[in-house]
Amino acid sequence: MMIFLANAARAAALAILAVLACGIAANAEPLAKTLFGSQALPAATAAKSYGFYSKGCFSGGVAIATDGPNWQAMRLSRNRRWGHPTMINLIEKLSREAAQDGWPGLLLGDISQPRGGPMLTGHASHQIGLDADIWFTPMPDRKLSVNERENMSATSMVNEKTHLVIDRLWTKAHERLLKRAATYPEVERILVNPGIKKKLCETATGDRSWLRKVRPFWGHDYHFHVRIGCQPGSVGCRAQDAVPAGEGCDKSLAWWFTEEPWRKSGNPDAPKARDVMTMKSLPPACREVLNAPAPVSEAAVTVRGGGRTISVASAPAPATASAVSAFTEIPLHLIPIPMARPTDAQ
Ligand SMILES: [Zn+2]
Repeated sequence: MMIFLANAARAAALAILAVLACGIAANAEPLAKTLFGSQALPAATAAKSYGFYSKGCFSGGVAIATDGPNWQAMRLSRNRRWGHPTMINLIEKLSREAAQDGWPGLLLGDISQPRGGPMLTGHASHQIGLDADIWFTPMPDRKLSVNERENMSATSMVNEKTHLVIDRLWTKAHERLLKRAATYPEVERILVNPGIKKKLCETATGDRSWLRKVRPFWGHDYHFHVRIGCQPGSVGCRAQDAVPAGEGCDKSLAWWFTEEPWRKSGNPDAPKARDVMTMKSLPPACREVLNAPAPVSEAAVTVRGGGRTISVASAPAPATASAVSAFTEIPLHLIPIPMARPTDAQ
């Protein structure tokens, strides 16, 4: 009898251990945000985006310098100054051309992590190097300290109750900046708060075709979000839906000024995607992106401005220290004029 009991107890104990082991194994599957959030440098292989804006990663990333002739990057501790070379070169160009338009300089918010992927905090998108946030606050005419860049609070342009733009803060210069960004062919969408879209609808004169790309969305009251399309060579990049035809100043905008979009979520405690996504949730290529060699230094893959951009060779670099040779800086006068590309590219 005693032996039977002892055996039963042992079996029960083993069963509990087995359950625990399963639990440990399940917990041992690391979250993708932890793996991607700890990357200090990009994958030094050809520039490619994999997956979708909210579920993917990218290789061949380059950084925008913390300071340029016409920009300063904010929240430096997050290490989110990385993007596909086309995105980073575009920000550099926007900073220069906006300065010609009279904008004092860009304050740059988050772009992507060095290899993209889900983030430990913040954004659901920004995962494939093709999204960038730019503050509506003009750059001050002095260099901000690291501390200020970390803690300076951004100014909301929108009254949080009425969802309308605060008129004393909004200027024609803000409109010119959005127009400049929306006019680039690479840019597919610019997300702004509905109040800002409404203001543009009411006040933009002349050519208004650029309004089509400026889309209303929650948040985006102290910064706007620039999204470019999947780039040539990124066959694993899933394109977003095309923007609807027209200026978007119609019923679809009026909806944002009803009660419906601002109702509390039915399930506020539902876990966020980043808190459950493991590597299995991402395209298989993201494992290679995670394991790829890094460039020799951050400086070697950083865009500093003055029209000097970084181009990335189309062939993947070898997985050796010479991987950085995939990146070359080219002077402005050698950059070819961009050719039109099909808008239905995958
Ligand atoms: Zn954003």
